[in-house]
Amino acid sequence: MDDPTGMTTKKKPTIALLSAVINMQYLADAFEQVAPGIDVRHGADLGALEDIDVAVCWFPPHGRLAQLPRLQLTQSLAAGIDHLLADPDLPRGTPLCRIVDSTMAAGMKAYVSWAVVQQHRGMRAYVASSAAGRWEEQPVVSPRSHRVGIAGLGTLGLACAEALATIGYQVRGWSRTAKADLPEGVTGFHGADQLDEFLSGCDTLVCLLPLTPETKGFLNASLFARLPRGAHLVNVGRGDHLVEADLQPALDSGQLSAATLDAFSQEPLPATHPFWADPRILVTPHIATRTDSRVIARQTLENLALLQQGGRPAQLVDLARGY
Ligand code: NAP
Repeated sequence: MDDPTGMTTKKKPTIALLSAVINMQYLADAFEQVAPGIDVRHGADLGALEDIDVAVCWFPPHGRLAQLPRLQLTQSLAAGIDHLLADPDLPRGTPLCRIVDSTMAAGMKAYVSWAVVQQHRGMRAYVASSAAGRWEEQPVVSPRSHRVGIAGLGTLGLACAEALATIGYQVRGWSRTAKADLPEGVTGFHGADQLDEFLSGCDTLVCLLPLTPETKGFLNASLFARLPRGAHLVNVGRGDHLVEADLQPALDSGQLSAATLDAFSQEPLPATHPFWADPRILVTPHIATRTDSRVIARQTLENLALLQQGGRPAQLVDLARGY
């Protein structure tokens, strides 16, 4: 097996897997497959903290990273880093990388295309008709006459925009900065000044923004009011992009017709949460896309090797920007 660290003759780094919410054993197994014999520690007892070179994190216990005196890299387990920024003691001087990989974009393209098509083509009605043995047509509306807007034209948003344009939807995207070279069939909007114009042409709005202080609560009653009446909302960003209390009133008024949600302020979504019982809301358990654990292990070791050589990993996060 090749060695992504390029350190066959050097001491292998020591990795700590930090999470207050999940069991990280599967990731320890992935590191062992990618770099056999590597020292990977997780759980409450990390041994001598000065040994640790890299921390791979998903909602790390607050304050834990700050206890690692020789930390060279903080690696997010995911594309988002909001779970790390939530730690008030995050060591901001240590390079922080997120995961970017093509399998994640492929999974997100598939999920978002499904979310748009299932609502636009009335597929849930067909599931019910099929179960009841009824031959029943829903209106067939061409993708050409349906406008999909993607808020966030980063790695994942761009991939989804291209996929939806290929199906034939009218696609528009919104980002912080202007974009050159958008995929064919995708119209770009940017900044606060162009937000209203962007929203006014979204029969479906897909949220693929990072969670930052500027984007928290982005999906709220005032924004819904600026969408075309009867719009469909898809949130595959983070739960805190949505002001949950504003969603059902917008559905009740008809301003929104449906919502497909993959991320929630509290996960797992509590059994008593009103979204479960609402037939206009389709809930999925944060599964829009996943990265293969071996990709995470490999990318972590490559990032560390590059930093040690004085390089700059492509996945390095700009902490001042927050994503
Ligand atoms: P990314 O590459 O960092 O792209 C973020 C995009 O959002 C960029 O286009 C950026 O604009 C735009 N943006 C940021 N702040 C903005 C603001 N204030 N106003 C307007 N646009 C703004 O992120 P990504 O890798 O595509 O991932 C996006 C998000 O997907 C993640 O942060 C995560 O929350 C979510 N995600 C969800 C799942 C899931 O399974 N549900 C899985 C992976 C990721 P610029 O291009 O101008 O900088």
